[in-house]
Amino acid sequence: MAKREFNVSKKEKFAEWYNTIIYAADLVDNRYNVQGFVVHKPWAMYSFRALYALFEKELEANGHEPVLFPAVIPEDNFRKEAQHVEGFAPQVFWITQGGAEQLTHPLALRPTSETAFYQMYSKWVQSQSDLPLKFYQSCTVFRYEHETLPFMRGREFMWIEAHDAFASEKEAKDQVKQDIEIGQRVLNEVLGLPLICTERPAWDTFPGAEHTYAYDVLMPDGRVNQVASTHLLGQKFAKTFDIEFKDDKGEAKHAWQTCFGPGIWRIMAALVSVHGDDRGLIFPFAVAPAQVVIVTIPAGDAKEDKKILDYAAQLRDRLALMNIRAVIDNTAKTPGFKFNYWEMRGVPIRMEVGKKEVEKNAVTIARRDTKARAQVPLDALTTYLVETAGAILLELKARAKEDFNKRLKDAKTKEEVKKILEEDKGIARTTFCTTGEEGHACADELAAFAGGAKVRGTLVDKEEKPEKDAKCIVCGKPAKAIVYVAKQY
Ligand SMILES: [Zn+2]
Repeated sequence: MAKREFNVSKKEKFAEWYNTIIYAADLVDNRYNVQGFVVHKPWAMYSFRALYALFEKELEANGHEPVLFPAVIPEDNFRKEAQHVEGFAPQVFWITQGGAEQLTHPLALRPTSETAFYQMYSKWVQSQSDLPLKFYQSCTVFRYEHETLPFMRGREFMWIEAHDAFASEKEAKDQVKQDIEIGQRVLNEVLGLPLICTERPAWDTFPGAEHTYAYDVLMPDGRVNQVASTHLLGQKFAKTFDIEFKDDKGEAKHAWQTCFGPGIWRIMAALVSVHGDDRGLIFPFAVAPAQVVIVTIPAGDAKEDKKILDYAAQLRDRLALMNIRAVIDNTAKTPGFKFNYWEMRGVPIRMEVGKKEVEKNAVTIARRDTKARAQVPLDALTTYLVETAGAILLELKARAKEDFNKRLKDAKTKEEVKKILEEDKGIARTTFCTTGEEGHACADELAAFAGGAKVRGTLVDKEEKPEKDAKCIVCGKPAKAIVYVAKQY
């Protein structure tokens, strides 16, 4: 349940920090009696709605339309693509019974929906004019996980999945670029999260995909959190599911496909962890469950207090007209107590309203991120809030980037990789033989040497080539790639 005060060192005790703040701020309740399934409380839901809206708006501007597919996938569909089923089989929940009857055809609870969508795409695509298909759904998916942690790994979690089909390989490749732009724009520019976007090595592609590109946010404990991914599926699924069309010349061709998955749950974990501080959460303005809290400062006189409350209510209505979500705290607690409470819950802007403010037709405003306070006349409020919302984002972004840059380091040996990951809690950038299948053995050796270190791949948005005489830090053969190595969630 919600607590009033919080003070845990995020840097020194991250696991404790995370495990305390998500409950103290009343984001989730994990006392639902099945492991890995949590109840999402209003404070999380307002923020989740805003997060979904950000991505939905971008996807729709990019030509996607919303759909909602069934949560169940027939076993036959699911088993069609061999690599896909092999990759997901251990994590699938199966429905085998309906009422008292055993189902002759078990149903998978969707762990992801390729095999649901593409079965229908084969019916929807007949001629080239039916393409492209660009649909997305905002939904939860289900995976039988053993270790669970709210927003990081769950048996039911929130995401968006976009599934596209095109007439040519070029269009599919262009879509991958657009997905990456959308991901970076929302994650970095709107949410202020620094990240690396890499093409995953051949041995770490999504089951059934040709190429996988993924976005990693570095968490305070030095592990990376994959918050989204996009896959170039090529024609594998199209061949399996007969997504076929006749081209201009009447020739039968298979569609080219991509899919994109912003991990809404994991983005919440990143927001909480990257922007929060020892006093609690700090939400960027755009996705804060409440963007402003109006705290009343009692005057100790019933008549005055009534005036203060009316003033606060008018202020809230005025903010609502500006599309700003505001809450009023008029409880009998002391102002200091209320300040701590809303700071802990991460509200970016606090407005204090007391006798002084009512008299002056003003509000006293405090920022959650810098603690800066200022008195602002009501007629200057609109401009002040627009500027401050932007300034808060820039501040959070700059802090996060500074921390990220400090922990992203070059390594020339395996030992240096190990040191960067373990002592600096960072990401190592190093030279590697290849991210093709032949590099898999080196990646395994590195993982064994450096406590589970994972080769995350090569940078997508910037081409990086090793110097001519550079060697793989594991096998010593000439290095073809510059890779990023990190521990992962
Ligand atoms: Zn090697």
